Amino acid sequence: MEGLYDVIILGGGPAGLSAGLYAGRSRLKTLLIEKGAPGGQIALSADVENYPGQVLDGETGFTLSARMAEQCARFGVERVTDTIRAVQLDGAEKRLTGGKGEYRARTLIIATGASPRPIGCENEKEFVGRGVSYCATCDGAFFRGLEVCVAGGGDSAVEEAIFLTRFARQVTVIHRRDTLRAAKSIQERAFANPKIRFLWDSVVARVDGNEAVEAVTVRNVRTGETTVLRAPEEDGMMGLFGFVGYLPNTELFAGKLELENGYIRTDGDMRTEVPGVFAAGDVRVKSVRQVVTAASDGAIAAIQAERFISDSL
Ligand code: NAP
Repeated sequence: MEGLYDVIILGGGPAGLSAGLYAGRSRLKTLLIEKGAPGGQIALSADVENYPGQVLDGETGFTLSARMAEQCARFGVERVTDTIRAVQLDGAEKRLTGGKGEYRARTLIIATGASPRPIGCENEKEFVGRGVSYCATCDGAFFRGLEVCVAGGGDSAVEEAIFLTRFARQVTVIHRRDTLRAAKSIQERAFANPKIRFLWDSVVARVDGNEAVEAVTVRNVRTGETTVLRAPEEDGMMGLFGFVGYLPNTELFAGKLELENGYIRTDGDMRTEVPGVFAAGDVRVKSVRQVVTAASDGAIAAIQAERFISDSL
């Protein structure tokens, strides 16, 4: 990882991998830095049915992103696993400092995405990994034959509720309004699934249990009435999955880039206000966050990075 890169891409989700593909094809010396496995949020998704051309049986977010990563590697993109702790964005060389060392590049594409927003109920933190989860693909199988609650009403909540019915005896979707935000096609599948029921106008107030979650207290936001959903005694535990949106991963950039509600502002060409620094995917201010729009952002960012480099030579 020595020397000056043309492009450093921070984040290996669909935006970062697409940026890598385009930067690699432009023969830019490119490094993709990711703190964990590549794929970002989509790697945790059991089912991807709306990425163009994605009609393969058995395709998951993990397999789709693994192919994207493979495609990047074919075009010579280097990859390192590291957690970046500091960035210097000003000047002709962008510097990133991670646990394994310092990385330097002419341009930076920020594709750090977003992380699950906590449900915001009492005792939530204490029960993470003991019944509370934000990833159905990772943890769904632990709840085989048990009761599971899902908080949220967007695409993630409803899609993952459907996925969880593969394992759970019953899935209760707890949503704060009486209509879902999820796409109609996803809603239709959920309404037709006999294992899914909905608690409308409701939020999760608290979770309780001994070793694991045994009870979920739900508050009706209209009446204020609370209801306790308890795991049947023979089960001993139940699950609570949170899908109430995401928070952008932008802590590194606070005070260095213009943020709006924590998201990075860019123009239509993915440029931030700092020359040579671009942002792509869920981390930036935008109205539609999908794999296809993240991939599109990544492509645009890499093309613009290439133009920025040519113009500065
Ligand atoms: P989202 O669209 O922001 O939905 C979050 C859901 O959580 C909403 O129903 C919201 O309620 C609810 N919520 C937010 N804060 C809450 C709180 N404090 N307490 C209780 N409920 C709360 O998030 P998402 O579903 O994770 O989706 C994120 C993005 O990824 C979206 O752009 C989505 O379209 C995309 N996505 C797409 C797919 C797909 O195309 N297959 C799959 C997953 C995600 P309200 O509805 O009342 O605001």
